[in-house]
Amino acid sequence: MATTANLGFPRIGAQRELKKALESYWKGDVTVEALEATAKSIRAENWKRQHKAQITHIPSADFAYYDQVLNHSVMFGAIPSRYASLKNKDPLALYFAMARGLQKDGVDVVACEMTKWFDTNYHYIVPEFSASTEFALEQNLPLAAYNEAKALGFNTRPVVIGPITYLLLGKMKGEAGALSLLPKLLPVYTELLASLKQAGAEWVQIDEPCLALDLSAEAKAAYKTAYETLEKSGLKLMLTTYFAGLRDNAELAFALPVAGVHVDLVREPNQLDAVLKNVKPTQVLSLGVVDGRNIWKTDFAPAIALLTKAKAAVGDDRLIVAPSCSLLHTPVDLVHETKMDDELKQWLAYGQQKLEEIAVLAQAVSGGQGAADVKPALDANAQAIAARRTSKRIHNDAVKSRLAAVDEKMLSRKQPFPQRAQAQQALLKLPPLPTTTIGSFPQTAAVREARAKFKSGALSAADYDAFLEKTTRECVDYQVKADIDVPVHGEFERNDMVEYFGEQLAGFAFSQNGWVQSYGSRCVKPPFIFGDVSRPSPMTVRWSKFAQTLTDRPMKGMLTGPVTILQWSFVRDDQPRETTCKQIALAIRDEVVDLEKAGIRLIQIDEPAVREGLPLRNADKQSYLKWAVDSFRLSAAGVEDATQIHTHMCYAEFNDIMQSIADMDADVISIETSRSAMELLQAFVDFKYPNQVGPGVYDIHSPRVPKAEEMVTLLRKALEVLEPSQVWVNPDCGLKTRGWPEVEQALAAMVGAAKQLRAELATPNAKVANG
Ligand code: GLN
Ligand code: ZN
Repeated sequence: MATTANLGFPRIGAQRELKKALESYWKGDVTVEALEATAKSIRAENWKRQHKAQITHIPSADFAYYDQVLNHSVMFGAIPSRYASLKNKDPLALYFAMARGLQKDGVDVVACEMTKWFDTNYHYIVPEFSASTEFALEQNLPLAAYNEAKALGFNTRPVVIGPITYLLLGKMKGEAGALSLLPKLLPVYTELLASLKQAGAEWVQIDEPCLALDLSAEAKAAYKTAYETLEKSGLKLMLTTYFAGLRDNAELAFALPVAGVHVDLVREPNQLDAVLKNVKPTQVLSLGVVDGRNIWKTDFAPAIALLTKAKAAVGDDRLIVAPSCSLLHTPVDLVHETKMDDELKQWLAYGQQKLEEIAVLAQAVSGGQGAADVKPALDANAQAIAARRTSKRIHNDAVKSRLAAVDEKMLSRKQPFPQRAQAQQALLKLPPLPTTTIGSFPQTAAVREARAKFKSGALSAADYDAFLEKTTRECVDYQVKADIDVPVHGEFERNDMVEYFGEQLAGFAFSQNGWVQSYGSRCVKPPFIFGDVSRPSPMTVRWSKFAQTLTDRPMKGMLTGPVTILQWSFVRDDQPRETTCKQIALAIRDEVVDLEKAGIRLIQIDEPAVREGLPLRNADKQSYLKWAVDSFRLSAAGVEDATQIHTHMCYAEFNDIMQSIADMDADVISIETSRSAMELLQAFVDFKYPNQVGPGVYDIHSPRVPKAEEMVTLLRKALEVLEPSQVWVNPDCGLKTRGWPEVEQALAAMVGAAKQLRAELATPNAKVANG
C-alpha cells in the first residue's frame, strides 16, 4: 500500500517552548543544559506525534536552534573569518554569534545576513562563501539526530539540504559563482551520507527546492555532477522539491540517480502528467498533496484524484503521500485553539491535523480494508469542505458584485503625475526637501502596557482612548516643535500593521495559538483571511482626524496596502489570491476616500511586501506584478488630484521591478537606502523615476544615533542624481522599535540636515564651503 512521509515538523514546540528557552538562555537566565533539555523534549514529542499519526517516513534533523541553513554552515565548517576567534570553543556560542552577532568579552562581531526562505515568511541565515572557503564535516548534526531518534525507538529519515541548493542559497564574494565550490563540498556530503548509512539509515531526504526554480546551464550540470557522486553512498535518496513545479527541470530531476523524487502538487497540481512521464521504473514518487504552507483542511476529493492517477501509473508500492513541503510553515496543533468558534475551526488543519490527513489519504488511495476504515473520515472531510464552501460567513454578494464592476477608470488618478504635483504643491505649500517620518513612533512599555490592560479588560475603553489621545497629542506636539513639515499621528493605537486592519475588516479571523516561526526565536501569528473582505466602518479616520486638530501642518494618514495585508496573512485557498487582494484593495480605497473627506490630504499606503510576493519562476512574475500593481492603484486612485498619495517599501531590491513600482503611480515613495549608502536609489535613477522619492537617510534598525553630517552626505548623493523637487527627507522605516531619546536626537539631526541643504539649494555657492 501507499506509504506516508512528512518532510519536517515545526520545532518551536506546541506552546513555543523553544522560543522561551532560547530567549531565557540568551539572557543568561537558564543553563545550556536546560536549553538542550527543552530541545530534546520537543524533538521526542515530534517523533512520537508523527509515529502515532502513522507516518512511515518520519524526518529527523529537521530541528534547528535557530535555522536549518545555519545548521549546515556550522556542520560544514563554512564559518566566515570574522568569527575565527570563536572557533574550536563553544560550538553553540559560535552558532548564535553567526545568527545574532556578539558583543562580549572583547569580541565584537556582526551577525550573518538573513533573508527570506524562497517565497515564505521564514528567514534563513545566508551562508558566506569566497574562493578560499574550505569545507569539513565539523559537526555531524544529522547523524546525532538520527541516533537520538533511534535510541527512542524511531527509525527516521534524516533531512539534509542538498549541495546545489545549499550553495545557491549562499553569497559568494568575488568573480566565480558559489557552484565553483562544489568539488570542495561534495566530499563532505559523501562523508556525511556514509556515516548515516553506517548508522543504519535506509533513506535520506535531500532537499533541493532550487530544482523548482529557473536554472542556469551551469546549475543543471552541477546537479548531474553532484548526484552522480552522492549515488555512491548506497543510501536511498529522496530528492525533495517544493514551493513550485519542476516544469522544464522535470526531465533533469528524474534523470538524476536518486531512489525517489518528491514534488509539490499543491502549488502545481498540473505537473503530475510531466512527473508521471519522467519518473523511472525504479523510482519512488512522493506526492505533496497536503498544503504545508496554509492552515486549511485539505479537500480530499481532488487530492485523491491526483493520487489515484499516480497509482494507476506507478503502482501502490511506489507511492508516498506527503505534505507539499515541510510543515515548518504551519502552526503545531489545532487542539490548542480553545477559544476559536467551532465553525471556523472545522475548516482548519494545523501541523498535527495535516499528519492525520496524510495517513487518511494513504489509506483511501490504497483501497481494500484500509479504504473502508477511513470512509467516515472521508465523509467528514467532504462535509466540512462543503460546509465551508457554502457558509454564509464566507460569501458577501455586495463585495463580489462591486469587484466585478471595477473598471480601468477606477485604477487611475484623474490626471498624470506632473499635473497632480502642481495641484498638491498649491494645496500643501511644502518647502523644498520636505521632512516627514514613515508613520510609527516608539511603542514604549507604557503604550504596550495600556493596550494589554485594555485587551484584558483592566482598562476601560474610555480610559484607553484618553491614554491614546494624550500619547498622540504629545507625539504631534513633539513633531511640530522639531519642525517636521509633514507630521503623523504615531500609530500608538496599532499593535501590528496588518493585524490592526485585519481586526477591523470583515472576512478576517485571528487565532490564539497559530504561531509560526519567522526567524530564530521570533514567531508570528498571521491573520486568517477566510471570506470576502469588506470594511464595515472607517478604521483609521478617528486618529488621523484627531491628530489633524492638533496642528496646522498637513497630517499624513497611514494605511497598510492590500498586497502587504495579503502577503502577511494565511489566505483563503478557494479563490485566486488576486481576487482576495482586490477585495482588500476596495476596502482600503474606501478608507482612503474617507480620510480625504475628513481633511487628510496626504495618505501613505505602506507596501513593504510587494517584492516578496514575487513568484519564484520568471514566467509567473508579470502576471503577479500586474495584479499587485492594479490592487495598489485601486486602493489609491479614489482621491482628488490635490491629495497626495505616498507609499513606503523597505528592505527591497528594486532593479527588476522598477517598472511596476513606477506603475503604482504613488506621488511619493519612501524607500530604505541608508544601509547601502544610497546604492538602492540607483535603480530609481537609472529608471528615471518620474515621481517623488524619499530615500531613507538613516537606519532605524540600529540604536546608533547618526550625525547630521552623515545625513547631509547621503542627501547630497541623492541630490546629485535626482531633481531637488523630487526629494523628500525621512528615516528608512517606522520608529516603533526605537526609544524616544534616540528618536529625538536622530530626527533633530535629520531636520537640521534638510535645512542645511535647503539653504544650499537657495544659494548654490554655499555648497562650496562643505566641499
Ligand atoms: N507605517 C509603518 C510604520 O511606520 C510602516 C512599517 C513598515 O514598513 N514595515 O511602522
Ligand atoms: Zn519600512
